[in-house]
Amino acid sequence: MSQPRALVIGGSLSGLFTANLLRTIGWHVEVFERANNDLAGRGAGLGAQADLFVAMQRIGIQIDRSIWTEVRSHICLDQNGKSICEVPVREVTTAWDRVYRALRQAFSDEHYHGGMTLTRCEQNERRVVAVFANDARAEADLLVGADGMRSTVRRQFMPEIAPRYVGYVAWRGVVEEGQIPLRWRSQTFHDMVFCLAPGELAFSIPMAAYDNVGRARRCMFVWFRPAEYASSLRQWCTDATGHCHGDSIPPPLIREEVLTELKLAARTLLAPQLAVLVACAREPILSAIFDLEVPRLTFGRVALVGDAAFVARPHVGTAVTKAAQDAQALAAALVGAEGNIEAALASYENSRKQAGSELVARGRRLGAHLEPKQPDNDTLGERARPPIDILLREYGPGNIANWPFGD
Ligand SMILES: Cc1cc2nc3c(=O)[nH]c(=O)nc-3n(C[C@H](O)[C@H](O)[C@H](O)COP(=O)(O)OP(=O)(O)OC[C@H]3O[C@@H](n4cnc5c(N)ncnc54)[C@H](O)[C@@H]3O)c2cc1C
Repeated sequence: MSQPRALVIGGSLSGLFTANLLRTIGWHVEVFERANNDLAGRGAGLGAQADLFVAMQRIGIQIDRSIWTEVRSHICLDQNGKSICEVPVREVTTAWDRVYRALRQAFSDEHYHGGMTLTRCEQNERRVVAVFANDARAEADLLVGADGMRSTVRRQFMPEIAPRYVGYVAWRGVVEEGQIPLRWRSQTFHDMVFCLAPGELAFSIPMAAYDNVGRARRCMFVWFRPAEYASSLRQWCTDATGHCHGDSIPPPLIREEVLTELKLAARTLLAPQLAVLVACAREPILSAIFDLEVPRLTFGRVALVGDAAFVARPHVGTAVTKAAQDAQALAAALVGAEGNIEAALASYENSRKQAGSELVARGRRLGAHLEPKQPDNDTLGERARPPIDILLREYGPGNIANWPFGD
């Protein structure tokens, strides 16, 4: 039997997990990524669960101690920086760039095609064909849509499904250890530190160092702030030339006055331990927050993985782990069905649909109190915030039990 072939659309984390894992089960895989450049500069810190690193190990990546950091408690500070609630946890974080670089290095350059934008796919009972913006075509047994929240693949099969903006954004930024006053470092690098303001929530987490050769520690802040789609969000996404980039904007193009305003607001609203991170972060990232959930994950010889199918609000801290689990489930289903792609994709959809829906629901629950009041719908009005200890307990990727990678 000839080697089965897969086309993976999207070369970010979901795409790379899928491509690498399909390769380990004997598939020939080609990855097509719209961006021409290396994506490593894009990410910040990540909540993680063991499955993320288990999938990396399965690919052949060595998990050394520097790729994860441990969080020992969730602490909430008041606006003066005084602790008002503390909940012990045992949680793990990592960093987007560490995971991305390891996955990218594990996959051969020869089969990774940057600057290739999928426009549509065509299929019959025997083959699937990807058609690109430059008129190139590629053919295979299976096509995997790992092309993110605005997935072209999903849109072709379910044009009626679109991400729903939830009324708030996340500002994020990475800060090096040396920028943080000595008196706050221990807490910043061992705990997840929260501060709440009406309708807003900010936190910091430690993140894995840039590499394993002794670079300084890093941490990141995340700050959820309300923003009306048509006004504040569009203004923040408008660059210095007056061009509005839609509902996102490359970090270097965010206007200086928007950042000055953000730092000023941080000084007024947040505990000083968090305000200092907002003040020091180089090129903060602005992300509008969306919910997305699909009723189906597969269409003939086509499957969706990662954010192309489900986008959970970042409060859950496990979307990348979910991407790894999707890829792992797809590979397992293909092995189990012994070449019967239809049966494999049915089994994949069966195993991952509920997990995706549950994660989206959990993110919605954790973020409901941040949604702005809807004047035309009382039932969707500003939700009461759960008691702080409950919020702290439920927030993030969850406690690790039986951690398989040592201390
Ligand atoms: C504010 C924020 C905080 C987050 N925090 C966490 C966290 O703490 N923990 C966690 O686990 N997750 C977190 N996430 C989520 C996480 O970043 C994603 O879930 C994860 O990266 C999986 O993404 P993906 O690979 O499916 O999609 P993406 O990363 O969006 O990648 C899709 C890729 O497809 C490419 N592409 C798109 N269209 C095409 C096309 N037509 N042709 C070819 N290529 C195309 C894009 O260029 C892109 O590289 C956070 C997300 C946000 C917004």
